[in-house]
This record gives sequence, structure tokens and C-alpha cells, in this order.
Amino acid sequence: MLVQAGEPVARLFVVVDGRIDGVRPSDAGEDLVVSLGPGMFTGEVTMLSGRRGLAQIRAAAAGEVIEVVRDDLLALIQADGELSEIFMRAFILRRVELVARGVGDVVVLGSSHCQGTLRIREFLTRNGHPYTMVDLDRDAGVEAVLDRFHVSAADVPVVICRCEVVLRNPTTHQIADALGFNDAIDQTHVRDLVIVGAGPSGLAAAVYGASEGLDVLVVESTAPGGQAGSSSRIENYLGFPMGISGQELAGRAYTQAEKFGAQVMIAQDATRLACDRKPYALEMGDGQRLPARSVIIATGAQYRRLPIDSLPRFEGAGVYYAATFMEAQLCAGEEVVVVGAGNSAGQAAVFLAQTARRVHMLIRSGGLADTMSRYLILRIEDHPAIVRHVQTEIVSLEGNGHLERVGWRDNPSGRIETHGIRHVFAMTGAVPSTRWLGACLALDAKGFIKTGPDLSPEDLATARWPLARPPHLLETSLPGVFAIGDVRAGSLKRVASAVGEGSIAIAAVHQVLHE
Ligand SMILES: Cc1cc2nc3c(=O)[nH]c(=O)nc-3n(C[C@H](O)[C@H](O)[C@H](O)COP(=O)(O)OP(=O)(O)OC[C@H]3O[C@@H](n4cnc5c(N)ncnc54)[C@H](O)[C@@H]3O)c2cc1C
Repeated sequence: MLVQAGEPVARLFVVVDGRIDGVRPSDAGEDLVVSLGPGMFTGEVTMLSGRRGLAQIRAAAAGEVIEVVRDDLLALIQADGELSEIFMRAFILRRVELVARGVGDVVVLGSSHCQGTLRIREFLTRNGHPYTMVDLDRDAGVEAVLDRFHVSAADVPVVICRCEVVLRNPTTHQIADALGFNDAIDQTHVRDLVIVGAGPSGLAAAVYGASEGLDVLVVESTAPGGQAGSSSRIENYLGFPMGISGQELAGRAYTQAEKFGAQVMIAQDATRLACDRKPYALEMGDGQRLPARSVIIATGAQYRRLPIDSLPRFEGAGVYYAATFMEAQLCAGEEVVVVGAGNSAGQAAVFLAQTARRVHMLIRSGGLADTMSRYLILRIEDHPAIVRHVQTEIVSLEGNGHLERVGWRDNPSGRIETHGIRHVFAMTGAVPSTRWLGACLALDAKGFIKTGPDLSPEDLATARWPLARPPHLLETSLPGVFAIGDVRAGSLKRVASAVGEGSIAIAAVHQVLHE
């Protein structure tokens, strides 16, 4: 036995002679996941994060292996370009294969019409963690088993981790805990840089910071990718002429950050910035304190919610804030509503029109936003399945458990129509995620963080700016604390600009650390 399933991954093995098998438990006893012969090696992306392995690794025949300790492997990946490419390619492709085959250590028992199930599936998918889904609506036998174990409707979804831990309607934090997502991260020592938020800007800062030798920790309240992770296809990001899904872009950036040694703490909310003395510290939802010599705030923005009283009943059960492959599957062949007139609404409408019977775009103003990309406007205008309703507002959501009817009002005439539609995509812009910052930093009237030249002499006087130099380009009213991406006042709200700001901020972090 070389590695037990569920053990933190600490070693990689190269087969010199003989054979190594990767197996995992199953109904039939065990499944062979992989069999490796001479010249082949063990490991997938958990090797980078130090998370728990998904399979048991054992010798299938007498032989000889080279054992590489994880820290040595990480050093090797950074120092040797040729080996780095071989390992990274194998690790990523193996994880893609595991996700595609659903070969993992998590089973989700739930219903595809249930809010909680969608939340958990999204969390696992966006973290690239393989799982098996058992749909209770389709498998009556499982329901009988749940009854025997006194699992009530309120306990669903049930998540079984590593055949050991059974969680009933868990929070994402509980799942991350049970799977040991953050076990390998030391939370006590003072870091050069703590980045809050793992959207495109935070991940870019992590890649540039770690690759330039900084000790970097990223904290993320849900999963890497941020808003971009909820995009079906980003077509205007340099270097991807065929477009790339936000999730794929985030997955690659996440692995890249880990390759350079950045650590990413998942399902952890920063709830306060302790800014009264140095080193600064981030206080987390579970009570931990993360000290940092410098901080980058990359918390982006959150979707604006529809102003309808019944909304909470249907979020995840007919009302969605993302239009990815997963949501598109739920409404294939049906009519859907997209609310909004900006880029994200346009992108969702065009994407959903590939599978939905009809897409109704509800636009409060007189037409598509001036800020919408030209290519999207042309596709919307040309698409036979997309119907635009201008000067129209959504006014009601009704249904029993799942959304069944949607009402909208034509504002000029005041006429209200109700339609039997089960899926609404709310894409009406976003508000900055800055409430948790309290009064630490100067914000603009809408709550976005002011930086660099946008900080007025009054802002700096109020903040008692202590240095002779003015703030750097992306520095906030607090020395050594930076803001990048969508959370920053005046930012462009694009993936490319968020990524660019991540790299620019790192140059200033170096200067601040030497001050
Ligand atoms: C559906 C959709 C489609 C889009 N399509 C495009 C496109 O095609 N091209 C384009 O250029 N742009 C597109 N955008 C815009 C683009 O996604 C954003 O500009 C970009 O994601 C901003 O990146 P960010 O890192 O600044 O913030 P975000 O992406 O918002 O990421 C912020 C991260 O911080 C985390 N966070 C927030 N608060 C906390 C906290 N207190 N503690 C810990 N973590 C926290 C969040 O969970 C999130 O992961 C799209 C946006 C949407 C919603």
C-alpha cells in the first residue's frame, strides 16, 4: 500500500519496474481507476494543493518506484520547465477525466429541482471536484433507503464524503471541511500578501505574486472564478479566438497560481479587515485571523437581486444568476426569460437560445445597453428564438416549490401578462462586495473602493494617510492595501482589465514590502 484513499497527498511515485494501481471502493468491492506501468507516475491536481487523494494507490506487482516528496515535486515544477509541462499536463488531464467520469469521493443525493442541490452541485463543479449525483426524482429505491435512515425532506440534499461522513443539507463550508479542502494551509504565519477573492483579478494577482517569489494566500468565499465563472463563453479575452468558458479559464488560472506556490483557501468568507495596526489581519467567518504584510481586495461584485417579494423561494429553483452549461441543461427545449440589457444578459440570451425553445429578454429601458458589445447586439438581433421586450419589467414569480409562472408589465401601456415559464435568468448588473470592510477604506457613493489618483486630498485627510508619498495607482486610502477588478471605483468590468490590474498591483506590492 503506497497511499490510502482520503489521505493528504504527500508523495508522488514514478514506476521504474512493476505496476501500480489506483483503486477506489465501490458497490462491487472496488473499481480500478488507473493502472500505471514503467515510466508512468501517480498524481493529479491534489498533488499541488496537498488535498486528500481520491484513490488508493498500491503496488499491483513486485517492482521498484522512485518516491518524490510533495515539497520536492513543487520545487521541481517551478525550477524545471520541461518536467513542469509533463506533470501539469498530466495532472490537469487526469482531473478532467475524473470529473467527466464522476470518479470521486463525493455522492450527492438530491433533486434537480431543489435549490440546495443546485447550490452544492455548483460548488463542487466550480471547484473542479468530481462527484456522483443520485437524482431522488428518478430513483425511488434511494428514497426508500433515506426513509430507513430517517432522512427527512428538510435534510435533502444529502452529501456523502469519502464513504464516511454524511452531511444533511450542508453549507459549502461544511463540505469543504469534510473534504479537507484547506487542511494543508498554515493559517498562522504572517504572509507577504493575502488576496481576498479568487475571481479573475485575485487569481491574476496570485499568479504574478507567487511567480515573483511572494508568499501568497488567497481566500475565497465560494469557488475560484468569481463572476467570470458564471459565464458560459468569454469571447473577448485575448488569446482565445474560439472563446473559453469562465469556469475553464478560472480552473486554469487556479492551477497556475498553485503551481507557483500560492495557496487558495476555499469556502471561507473574510468578514473584517483589522486595519488599526500592522501587520494587518483578515478576520474570517470561522473566527480565524490571517495576518498579512500587504492585502489585495479583489472581492468584485454580486448580482443585483430582482425586487420581487417571492424571489427567495425560487432562487436556484427557477431563478438563476448564471447561465452556464449546467443551467442550460435544466431548461433545454423550454421558454426562458432573461432580465437585463447589458453584456452579461446578452451573452446569456445568445447562449440559452442554442437549447431553449424561446428566450424572452425583458429590457426596462428603450433598448439594449450602449455598453453591450457589438457582436452580441448583432447576434441577438439576428436570432429567431430571441424576443426583445423593451420598456418591460418583471413583476411576479409564482409556483409551488419550483417557478411555474412569470408576470411582466409593458410600462407604456401598464398591461401585465403572465406566462407559464419555469426559468428566469437575472442579469441586471451588480453591487460591490465591500460591506464587510466597515470604515477601513475610502469608498465612492456606490460603495466601490477608491484608489490612487481617485482619492481626493479630503479622502486622504479623513483616512489620516501617514506617508509622504501619494498612494500608488491601485492603492487604497490605507498604505499597503490595494483594490483591483470590479470592486474598484472606475474599473472597466471586464475580465482582461481585472487580470491586468492583478498584475499591476503586484509591482506596487513589491515596493510597499520594501518600504
Ligand atoms: C454572466 C457574466 C458574463 C460575463 N462575461 C464577460 C465577458 O464575456 N467578457 C468580459 O470581459 N467580462 C465578462 N463579465 C464580467 C467579468 O466576469 C468581471 O468583470 C470579472 O469577473 C471581474 O473580476 P473580479 O476578480 O474583479 O471580481 P469577481 O469576478 O466578482 O470575483 C470576486 C470574487 O471574490 C469573492 N468574494 C467576495 N467577497 C468575499 C469575501 N468577503 N471573502 C472572500 N471572498 C469574497 C467572490 O466569491 C468572487 O469569487 C461577465 C460577467 C458575468 C456576471
